Amino acid sequence: MTNGENSMGKLPGIRDVWAARSRISGSVVRTPLVRCPELSEEFDAEIYLKLELYQPIGAFKIRGAANKILSLTIDQQRRGVATYSTGNHGLAVSYIAKQLGIPAYVFISNRVPQAKVKALMSMGAILKISGISQDEAGEYCYKLAAAKGLSVIEPFDDPHVIAGQGTIGLELIEDCPGLDTVVVPLSGGGLIAGVALALKATDANIRTIGVSMQEGAVMYHSIRQGKPVVLDEVDTLADSLLGGIGANNQYSFPMVRQYVDDTVLVSESAIADGMAHLFKWHRLVAEGASATCVAALREKKVISPGSRAALIISGRNVDAEAFIDATQPYL
Ligand SMILES: *Cc1c(COP(=O)(O)O)cnc(C)c1O
Repeated sequence: MTNGENSMGKLPGIRDVWAARSRISGSVVRTPLVRCPELSEEFDAEIYLKLELYQPIGAFKIRGAANKILSLTIDQQRRGVATYSTGNHGLAVSYIAKQLGIPAYVFISNRVPQAKVKALMSMGAILKISGISQDEAGEYCYKLAAAKGLSVIEPFDDPHVIAGQGTIGLELIEDCPGLDTVVVPLSGGGLIAGVALALKATDANIRTIGVSMQEGAVMYHSIRQGKPVVLDEVDTLADSLLGGIGANNQYSFPMVRQYVDDTVLVSESAIADGMAHLFKWHRLVAEGASATCVAALREKKVISPGSRAALIISGRNVDAEAFIDATQPYL
């Protein structure tokens, strides 16, 4: 086995990220990078925020979904795409499918809250409700996809999805000369794998740091145990970071092991404080997953003085009530 390959398929490379960039340019926003004066002063460093929450659907996931769906053949596109994710990935797949005028099937369990069902329906998704857990919905998704010839769009463990998320890394390199550290929210690892790939291909000295919540951080523990682990899901402000990495993970796990410099965990109170910070100083409503980056600076001191760092503010999809409850004590 040579470097960059595994037994099942080839890991994506920097050329795939460049290809993704031109493929998705008509579907995604080139998001702004803004300096944060308060964090810069607090840490005696230059701290920037990459505002992925300004993507359509309010999260970066549209990059990977667009790259995957636009890589399918016309015939595959016509038959339709399927996913069993109810979060930002489900929204992203539905949005891109609607743009292309192709059907998107989203498989959900009968426990998915009404607010999420409504959001998916407003994107024009065809909802398939089955089972009492997301795992059961996933099984049904694969069964019906096989029967109907639908393409299942994986949320993170896919070379095209990873390459799509990696386009954020290309933008960071262009917009922030001298960058030395990038702090990235971490769940299944598609985001950080793509970003780290793009950054390391340009400058091997740029560090990437993955951040997850204290409880239920599957990738964090999988890295330390050297194999994918399974953990219970718990309540967290960073709900977009919940979920497993797949027992048969092919791409994101090996890439996180290969490219990512460090992974850290942050507390719920630090996440809430991070959300409040982004509102207070930038008037941004960011979801908990995004605010883990700010939390990592404050709680884990991941940035050293004199550093030039970017935080990926990955999404904004949080309910008003949850946002107010979380941030009030820190405003
Ligand atoms: C999915 C998601 C992440 C994590 O991305 P992975 O590729 O699963 O690591 C971070 N933030 C938000 C808002 C997300 O939706």
